Amino acid sequence: MTDFKRDGSHLSSYPPVEKWDDWVELDPDAWPRRVEKHYQLVPTVCFNCESACGLLAYVDKETGQVTKFEGNPKHPASRGRLCAKGPATITQIHDPDRILYPMKRSGPRGGGKWARTSWDEVLETFGARIRKAFQENRGEEVMYHVGRPGQDHFMDRTTQAWGIDGHNSHTNVCSSSARFGYLLWHYTDRPSPDHANARFILLLSAHLESGHYFNPHAQRIIEGKMAGAKLAVMDPRLSNTASMADYWMPSYPGTEAAVLLAMAMVILGENRFDATFVKNWTNWEELEVDGFSAKGQSFEALIEALKRHYAKFTPEFAEKESGVKAEVIVKTAREIATAGSRFASHLWRGSSSGNLGGWQTARALMLLHVLTGSVGTPGGHSLSAWNKFVPQPFSDPPPQKHWNELLYPLEWPLCTHEMSPLLPHFLKEGRGRLEAYFTRVFNPVWTYPDGFAWIEMLRDEEKVGLHAALTPTWSETAWFADYVLPMGFSSERHDLMSQESYAGRWIGFRQPVLRVLQEREGKKFDYTYQANPGEVWEEDEFWINLSWAIDPDGSMGIRRWFESPYRPGQKLTVDEYYGWMFENSVPGLPEAAAKEGLKPLEYMRKYGAYEVTTDVYKLNEKAVAPAALAGSKVEANGVITKEGKAVGVMVHGEPVVGYNTPSRKLELFSKTMADWQWPEFALPEYYRSHIHQSAQTASMGKSGAEVDQDFDARYMPLVEWPKDAQGEVYTLLPIFRLPHLIHTRSGNSKFLYEIAHKNPLWVSPVDAQKLGDIRTGDLLKVHTEIGFFVLHAWVTEGLAPGVVACSHHMGRWRLDKEDQLERMSSAWVNLQEVGKGQWKMRQISGVESYKTSDPDTQRVWWSDAGVHQNLTFPVHPDPITGMHCWHQMVRVERAGAEDRYGDIFVDTNLSFAVYQRWKALTRPAPGPGGLRRPLWIPRMRRPEAAAFYVSKKA
Ligand code: SF4
Repeated sequence: MTDFKRDGSHLSSYPPVEKWDDWVELDPDAWPRRVEKHYQLVPTVCFNCESACGLLAYVDKETGQVTKFEGNPKHPASRGRLCAKGPATITQIHDPDRILYPMKRSGPRGGGKWARTSWDEVLETFGARIRKAFQENRGEEVMYHVGRPGQDHFMDRTTQAWGIDGHNSHTNVCSSSARFGYLLWHYTDRPSPDHANARFILLLSAHLESGHYFNPHAQRIIEGKMAGAKLAVMDPRLSNTASMADYWMPSYPGTEAAVLLAMAMVILGENRFDATFVKNWTNWEELEVDGFSAKGQSFEALIEALKRHYAKFTPEFAEKESGVKAEVIVKTAREIATAGSRFASHLWRGSSSGNLGGWQTARALMLLHVLTGSVGTPGGHSLSAWNKFVPQPFSDPPPQKHWNELLYPLEWPLCTHEMSPLLPHFLKEGRGRLEAYFTRVFNPVWTYPDGFAWIEMLRDEEKVGLHAALTPTWSETAWFADYVLPMGFSSERHDLMSQESYAGRWIGFRQPVLRVLQEREGKKFDYTYQANPGEVWEEDEFWINLSWAIDPDGSMGIRRWFESPYRPGQKLTVDEYYGWMFENSVPGLPEAAAKEGLKPLEYMRKYGAYEVTTDVYKLNEKAVAPAALAGSKVEANGVITKEGKAVGVMVHGEPVVGYNTPSRKLELFSKTMADWQWPEFALPEYYRSHIHQSAQTASMGKSGAEVDQDFDARYMPLVEWPKDAQGEVYTLLPIFRLPHLIHTRSGNSKFLYEIAHKNPLWVSPVDAQKLGDIRTGDLLKVHTEIGFFVLHAWVTEGLAPGVVACSHHMGRWRLDKEDQLERMSSAWVNLQEVGKGQWKMRQISGVESYKTSDPDTQRVWWSDAGVHQNLTFPVHPDPITGMHCWHQMVRVERAGAEDRYGDIFVDTNLSFAVYQRWKALTRPAPGPGGLRRPLWIPRMRRPEAAAFYVSKKA
């Protein structure tokens, strides 16, 4: 709790915990009379982004209703503060259009007719279909596909308990590119910057206002700045983050790695790197490059080889590529060298997710950390695994025996996560089908590229046998489901969460507020939906019950994983699942609870969060445990192995745990890349993205001297424009976030949509002139490789010329005027398939006010719902990481007389052809030893080792 004094008065920022059971506020509706209102405050965890900030639900004691959400001061990451989306949860739970009961379609799929059904019927139907699939050895036809996970571990456990390789995620449209760059260095695939203690912070894109874990991080970036840290932001957009920076570096998209390598060269060239750190903690002795082998050579010879290799990356070269001034590159590089071990940075989406080869940005950024020794240090870059805590449950099913090639196909042996954006194309190619498909808080028709390919897949009952959309809100995807199953918001479900928010490890407990309160009063519930509004359920209980429905007598070996650890043979309850973990696998929690006379579960229900430790720096230097050392041996490269597995590494004669890489060190040189057919990327490199200006020139059919000689078709599939695509060629940035919207789920929040409801095309004044004196509000037609969309222009100085930008948040649509798909955020559209694979969408009306039990819906004053640009993007799977490369090469022209705002046209025949062109860039498995993928690289829901081989090992 934060208290402060001013003018002798004592004020409190947050209600103290001892008053949470009876918190008194004056009723604002009764003003100017002083009428007291009494509340019970119950902590839970926000579900509106991945940050997992702590909420306090205010429950009116008189009505028993949640009336508002504020920050939980006891949450160690968010510390009582929230972004706009946290308190807006109140509008989501009270949305009159929300789904309150399980629904089953009552007409043809996609016809929009629904009837209420019961949870028992849902469990029976899916239990029987899945059981039959398992009995017929068709486990790969059952798939769980998650958008917003909002939890750790429960679903890993569920799919593995079912014995299937059936977990699919959204990560390949989100962050898998950056992850790959980080994991090649240190196995852990996320950065965890210690912003609060940094002296220099470099952010690639708008991390301060809308990045990953942005509220917890934003607080600490500002703390770092207030303590004197300088902030640099590399982003073509003058975002709110860039406006707070000491240095704004508006780099041309996809060239960031060139700038970072030039900075590295400044630090190397001026000998301002941490030689001791690089020598001790990188695998430099394995490096082979340009005919130089470090084996048997001195460290100094290695440094000279690196300088030769990166000599091309002068500040002038980087300026030519990126547009960032050479003197700014030199100046920031020197500031980074001065900050040394207190240099923090962040990169998650933006550059890495937009570009072919975007993973190299993360790899080049990490090189700066390695050179400055700012890895695991106060104020430096840490590993996510060091700052995140995932408790283990009472039992864990064994890894599955199968490998599902719909998730991890042979073409992408190094893909960081499941190749989920390609699922419609895989089914179209006849690679498989789905018997039971669960989309969970996931709206691929709208959030993914190539949404019409998803519609074509979802409406095909041969390809998708049974589809349930588990969702708290209506969505474009739910429209094409067989069942729409209502799931709870932040205050209506249990989940355990932890994120790498700062230099510490914590857990946060999401809980169903009304159930918890009523249970405190002695009421008993079998299931959370009995306490929630309508029959909104929580997923933990749904999966437990579905597992019992699949295996009612336990003969399939599934049910036992969902039986109580305390009452053998009885169905597991959520209290038992979480209670067991809090008692047995969270260090220090039982003791902290005992001090207050509480059980660990009661402690978590009371406070909603617990800080496990702040001892998180330099964990690579921890001594190998004596038990692990016993019977181990030291290999020639210093790696300590036991029973064939690496357990540590010798550094200065001491056995320390190191990193989880093959060398147990930070991998400056990746033998994995060399062994898996990408030897040219064994070191951090820069290569040109698919939207580089040289590719743009080439796409216009120019040749010879007009095409930059560095254009390299090995990595850049040429754009083939549809024949009616006209206009100037630009790079479109389609993925910037607005801080107050969520991908799909903010669609039913009146607070959030009132703030923003339009996504115009950002155009620089230079380009506005070029396009024919375009003014803000003029209609533009944007052509992609597969179609076009029409929207308004916004002419702004806040964008580098040559680039146009459009936020991905807006453009929701519904097919029926009365359809209760968030009417305050969606346009009513006419969708026609005018030819095979040719889709045309036109808005009939925008947002209009409407009558519900909430009088505010009649006060909706905005009419714009934005334009859905993602529909017009083909898939662009990076040949290495599999990440969808979001940035688009587009042609922009003034809209014609026949074009109307919101018009969209797409040809999925063209999108399938683009998919084929990108697939041709891959270098497929098998790799060394017949492997599908390197054994050391992490994989979601890792199957048993034998499944990693394409065919049985000879
Ligand atoms: S950053 Fe905002 S949306 Fe995300 S968890 Fe925190 S309060 Fe919720």
